[in-house]
Amino acid sequence: MPLDIQERVPLKDYTSYKIGGPARYFVEPHSFAELKDALNFAAEQNLPIFLLGSGTNVLVSDSGVDGLVIRIGPSFAYLSIHSGHAQVGAGLPLDRLVSSLAEEGLGGFEPLAGIPGSVGGGLFMNAGAYGVTLGDFVKESVVMDYEGFIRRLTHSDHRFSYRYSVFQESDLIVLETLLRVESHPRDELLARIAETKEKRRRQPHLPSCGSTFRNPPGTYAGKVIEELGLKGTRIGSAQISETHANFIVNLGGATAQDVYSLICLVQKKAAMRGIKLVPEVRLWGDFQEG
Ligand SMILES: Cc1cc2nc3c(=O)[nH]c(=O)nc-3n(C[C@H](O)[C@H](O)[C@H](O)COP(=O)(O)OP(=O)(O)OC[C@H]3O[C@@H](n4cnc5c(N)ncnc54)[C@H](O)[C@@H]3O)c2cc1C
Repeated sequence: MPLDIQERVPLKDYTSYKIGGPARYFVEPHSFAELKDALNFAAEQNLPIFLLGSGTNVLVSDSGVDGLVIRIGPSFAYLSIHSGHAQVGAGLPLDRLVSSLAEEGLGGFEPLAGIPGSVGGGLFMNAGAYGVTLGDFVKESVVMDYEGFIRRLTHSDHRFSYRYSVFQESDLIVLETLLRVESHPRDELLARIAETKEKRRRQPHLPSCGSTFRNPPGTYAGKVIEELGLKGTRIGSAQISETHANFIVNLGGATAQDVYSLICLVQKKAAMRGIKLVPEVRLWGDFQEG
């Protein structure tokens, strides 16, 4: 089957923010071979590549992106378990991974329950919560570079640290990963998942990307923003959440520029107190300094 490359696809339909202009080209490969074809297309057309998982940590500009967006989606959402390890496709939702393993009496990563996003995006971001990160469990991963070559990364190759992995500085696509899993009583695991999700229920429910900024050394970004008196501040239809100051929420119809202008405002005010706040959310496309 020829590769189904679509043009001018609105990315707001693929992001948790419900914000974002069009991708010049957009493709959802169904196999490693199709992914390679997509990379060849980008190379032939000299297009920048944007990898998309579940879109829960990207802010796409209102003018969109001038390149090829490759979505690693449901075709890469597989899970198989063998000899103390889970082999997981990059497109599997992280939350589904945690609950599917718990059903089998396997776990360790219940604190990650409820984090939206895919396993691929989770590795890229080294997603984490309540003192646990996805990277803690990774034994090795299978990746493809932008030339279509497939190779294996060991745990240390990933260079995991706080919300960081090697993928943030290299042209590598996570295809699948092998995670260490531990045996535990199923009911205990399910109870821990329910507990984690209960804590998460207190988070804002409006569209967002979760935490906007990384925590600066020794403190929490949310605490800094709250102390700056910025909770509830609005620009257009974007707002610094009243519930959790590190969340910027889309009240409905917010533009990417509204969100970005709030990001800039927070950064400026924090800088005046000598604190550098670095966005955790990935910015795609062009923005104007707010
Ligand atoms: C309500 C809410 C709560 C959240 N809570 C948390 C939390 O508790 N902890 C936390 O860490 N995060 C949290 N997040 C942020 C987000 O869910 C995570 O960062 C998640 O891991 C992103 O995964 P994704 O598939 O959505 O990635 P995307 O948003 O699609 O992409 C994020 C980055 O990963 C790259 N990427 C995606 N897939 C691949 C791949 N296969 N190979 C290589 N690169 C890839 C993209 O290019 C992009 O740069 C939250 C978000 C929301 C909306």
